[in-house]
Amino acid sequence: VINGSSWHDEEKIFVSVRMRPLSQKEIDRNDISDWECINDTTIMYRNSLCVSERSMYPTAYTFDRVFRSNCLTRQVYEEGAKEVALSVVSGINASVFAYGQTSSGKTYTMSGITEHTLKDIFGYIERHKEREFFLKFSAMEIYNESVRDLLSEDITPLRLLDDPERGTIVEKLTEESLKDWNHFKELLSICEAQRQIGETALNEASSRSHQILRLTIESSGREFSGNISPSILSATVNFVDLAGSERASQSLSAGARLKEGCHINRSLLTLGTVIRKLSKGRIGHIPFRDSKLTRILQSSLGGNARTSIICTLSPARSHVEQSRNTLLFASCAK
Ligand code: ADP
Ligand code: MG
Repeated sequence: VINGSSWHDEEKIFVSVRMRPLSQKEIDRNDISDWECINDTTIMYRNSLCVSERSMYPTAYTFDRVFRSNCLTRQVYEEGAKEVALSVVSGINASVFAYGQTSSGKTYTMSGITEHTLKDIFGYIERHKEREFFLKFSAMEIYNESVRDLLSEDITPLRLLDDPERGTIVEKLTEESLKDWNHFKELLSICEAQRQIGETALNEASSRSHQILRLTIESSGREFSGNISPSILSATVNFVDLAGSERASQSLSAGARLKEGCHINRSLLTLGTVIRKLSKGRIGHIPFRDSKLTRILQSSLGGNARTSIICTLSPARSHVEQSRNTLLFASCAK
């Protein structure tokens, strides 16, 4: 198995920000937005009321791309994730993340992006009859550093094993060979049902879990093609809907933390450290092994792998503190 060429652009992580519209609930309680996307790469906080606060935080933040609240998921996909996600068909591992506080739009964004990617991949396969493709699909959830298969009714936590050739593998994880679009939709509804089971039977709070949908594509040239590309390619793309970023935040008051009974989410915190170090050019030790999430994703982060992080924001003034935390995380990833 030959892996594809390395990424032309060092190890850059593509970082974008997506602002959702104010929700009806926010509008009803007269919440407003002080955020303004001043162009396609810069977002700014405009609240001239608090001069003292203004000096404490940057007011303008610049990223690879900023998506306004009226942008459709299609556009977020096209400009924020497509290139990274589709590199999987050329044998390059990839990960696409949604990061942000609970209710900022992570699931909305990531499920749309996953669907657009799958549609494009099935289209690509249709157009490339000279190659034969094998698709494998898995889904898992990490909750409190415990990994669960979302395609199996068995809720026993899965173990991570170290394979000398393949790196970290999730033992006994279901791998469905994916046939077509309808099959993909069927598998998604199984995942959703399994997630619901976690929320009720296992008393999980969905905002605290990470969900990873994983697609592995192998392809080989058919004999009749006079193709010069490597005969076998294999790569994995991960779609990661992260736990609410308030779980990694230092800014929650002790009272709020007690009330919610939450502790800092180790996978989310370690991911932040890993991404920060990768974005600075792999200086020093990268603590992939410190959490389940980063162990599972190690071969799809850094190195030859491509990464896109979409940071989702609530526009509401009442969420400004969490929005700033999200933007600071996004700035560190750049
Ligand atoms: P999260 O997964 O971050 O907790 P959700 O994706 O569940 O947040 O979004 C919270 C609510 O906001 C949902 O009802 C969702 O449909 C809505 N929403 C999120 N993003 C958008 C958007 N860009 N446009 C319209 N509605 C959105
Ligand atoms: Mg969600």
